[in-house]
Amino acid sequence: MNVIGKVTVLPRLPKPLERLEELAYNLYWAWTPRAQALYRALDAANWERFQHNPVQTLLETPSARLEALSADPDYLADYREVMAEFDAYMNKGKSGKGDVWAAKAAPDLKPVAYFSMEYGFHESLPIYSGGLGVLAGDHCKSASDLGLPFTAVGMLFHQGYFRQLFNKDGWQEEAYDELNLTTLPIRPALTSSGETARISVRVGGRDVVMQVWNLQVGRIRVLLLDANVPDNSEEDRKLTARLYGGNQELRIQQYVLLGVGGIRALRALDIPASVYHMNEGHAALMGLERVREYVAQGLDFRTALEASASSTLFTTHTPVAAGNDAFAYDLMDRYIGEWPAQLATSRDELYSLARQDQNWDNHLVPTFSMTVFALRMSRMANGVSELHGEVSRGLWNFLYEGADPEEVPIGHVTNGAHNLTFLAQQYRDLFSTVLPADWTERLEDKQMWDDINRVPDAQLSATQHELKEEMIAFVRARSQEQLRRTGATAAEVAAAGEALSADALTIGFARRFATYKRATLLFRDRERLSRIVNDPARPVQFVFAGKAHPADNPGKAFIQEIYKISRDPEFAGKIVILENYDMNVARHLVQGVDIWLNNPRRPLEASGTSGMKASFNGAPNFSVLDGWWREGYDGTNGWPIGEEREYIDLNVQDDADAFSMYEKLEHTIVPLYYGKDAQGQNHGWLGVVRRAIITVSPEFSMQRQVIDYVQKYYLPLGTRAAKIDANNFEKARALGGWKSWVSQQWQHVQIHATTQLPATVQPGEEVKVSAQVTPAGIQESELRVEAVLKHGEQTLHVPMTSSGGGQYQVSIPLTDSGLYSVGVRATPYSPDLSNPLELGLIKWA
Ligand SMILES: *Cc1c(COP(=O)(O)O)cnc(C)c1O
Repeated sequence: MNVIGKVTVLPRLPKPLERLEELAYNLYWAWTPRAQALYRALDAANWERFQHNPVQTLLETPSARLEALSADPDYLADYREVMAEFDAYMNKGKSGKGDVWAAKAAPDLKPVAYFSMEYGFHESLPIYSGGLGVLAGDHCKSASDLGLPFTAVGMLFHQGYFRQLFNKDGWQEEAYDELNLTTLPIRPALTSSGETARISVRVGGRDVVMQVWNLQVGRIRVLLLDANVPDNSEEDRKLTARLYGGNQELRIQQYVLLGVGGIRALRALDIPASVYHMNEGHAALMGLERVREYVAQGLDFRTALEASASSTLFTTHTPVAAGNDAFAYDLMDRYIGEWPAQLATSRDELYSLARQDQNWDNHLVPTFSMTVFALRMSRMANGVSELHGEVSRGLWNFLYEGADPEEVPIGHVTNGAHNLTFLAQQYRDLFSTVLPADWTERLEDKQMWDDINRVPDAQLSATQHELKEEMIAFVRARSQEQLRRTGATAAEVAAAGEALSADALTIGFARRFATYKRATLLFRDRERLSRIVNDPARPVQFVFAGKAHPADNPGKAFIQEIYKISRDPEFAGKIVILENYDMNVARHLVQGVDIWLNNPRRPLEASGTSGMKASFNGAPNFSVLDGWWREGYDGTNGWPIGEEREYIDLNVQDDADAFSMYEKLEHTIVPLYYGKDAQGQNHGWLGVVRRAIITVSPEFSMQRQVIDYVQKYYLPLGTRAAKIDANNFEKARALGGWKSWVSQQWQHVQIHATTQLPATVQPGEEVKVSAQVTPAGIQESELRVEAVLKHGEQTLHVPMTSSGGGQYQVSIPLTDSGLYSVGVRATPYSPDLSNPLELGLIKWA
């Protein structure tokens, strides 16, 4: 049949249960297990079959079943309770119902628009590949919890990322299922006149139409763009088929659709936005459309650029090259070739904002880097942990010639995870016995969490055991399903039903199988591993899961290696690898294992978040001191692997980290886990479990993360944008014009400096530094001339004073003993710059 349209007919809901539909279309249920239980109760088999999708489960429920439940007092009681809590959540802040956080703590916050290529909200909406997407989904959930004025924009990939299957040799295969949009918790976004919002974007000389879908996540909305509409050619309809699928041609077209289309979607729906957050470089082309809008209002290119960048934040998420797209210029010409004219600028000027010279096939070629463009199209930027901030400053230092890495204007906000999305209901109940009634609303409150110390050993231990049994049942069922599909023998299937023991120390490792994450590091010394795993008195078992990108053969080889080990009689039933890692598998694992393992090659793990989710659930983290764990580990709440250092030889690094891992397991972790006190409890172990919950839950809550973004970036950018835009863009004009003039003149600026430095001085003595500057027409007030003193790790910038005629001097007391290096430099200065290096211009004497 040639399908010309689809329509969803929801069952007529009995009056007492009529709000099941409303709730199904609000992802509030995604972090409320008791709300999910209402749908599971409709039909448990369907619930599993439909990936826990409330809309689809509801659609398939016969009226008779609904009628029966509407007369079931237990079900009705649960229903009423869930609805009352849902209402309390949604109505908070409305007419005297108690304020949301944002109203109290950030009343001046302007509306935020958040752009991300992927979102991980729930397993039934598979438009994410891994941590980046889950982080974006979690960010939205906490934005809702905190009551931020916030709208997110993304893509509706109708084949998702991919479903992972292992063939009988353990090689990853990819399946692409077409999502049935009518069964997803999304609805067409409607314009103010009640029409379905549709926008159009020119890509490669064609007009691509996209429908906009609305996804309600608690109090906030997410707009999802979908090119799979009849107006488009068959080819163009596939532009939004797959996340990170296809080649560079497809990628760049998707980035145009997300960036440009996303802004148009906001406008089509009259959604206000004053601060724009680009979550990773994929979204950077939003800058094209925002500049175009201003140019269409009559601003020149540079003024438009100042206005748009002034309200924009860029978050970079990885130092790994594959995560920092760069495209050849001729490819860009094909897909954004029409843009320079629309922006009243030249191709050269536009591309220079994104230029990164790269060594491709032994030739240095200029490329269009999404990260560079994002840095230039924003006025604030950050990495996602303290160490990643530092690594990023080093990585992008080349954009600021003459600057020290620590001056590069990239800060950091350490990632968090959305506690309630990943916390088992059993823990939620247990925590409620000791924490204050409103604990789910003040997750970032560190002091509050100390009360976890009041949970008795026996209860904590019983909860852990129950969750481990649930996880093991899940793993067994999944493994059996997988074996049956690949034609395993009945004996093999039966054996998988006995895999893992709830009494053995269980370690989880699950994440994308990008090679830098070193999933196979554990197997570096197999004999030693075998002794650890097969210790009859103190056994240790491992559960692995993770997807490799479809084009990543080395990643797939890692999966295969683990798969083969898991079938080796020496490890069978003790090392298991599960297919199709998704948020469902993630929840089961972080809730059920005893320990979470992470061993990336430092410093490439920008943050990592799965260890946070495990710690929320009392599974302490055992990890390389990279990303968040470098900040999170405090000596009591888990264990480190390896040392905080850099290696030149990767083999040496792998050996050292593997050795450290075995040592820690054998001598520290295993003895602690199996130790029993006089009461038959393991008080020592449970102490680490409590410390993991107490320290990680608040500090690495998504709530803390979003509050940091509000305070460090969203509020200041809102203020900056208002200042730059005031009086018909007065400051934007001045700044744009001034910057381009200064940039032209800069080559003519000259600076000579002298200093009288005896070979040795006494502490407290002063050194005199003078400089002669030829300013090439730049005003004295527009230059910052400074002496720079380096002493050990410290760098001191001391402004020099002018005595007219281009003469500058300063006397600096040298307080500490040791070697000092002295330099003098000039940078352009304006009080309206977002940071001293905004122009990227430095002249050293
Ligand atoms: C949290 C999460 C990730 C991120 O894991 P890392 O350990 O941070 O790499 C990836 N995939 C899923 C499904 C997750 O829930």
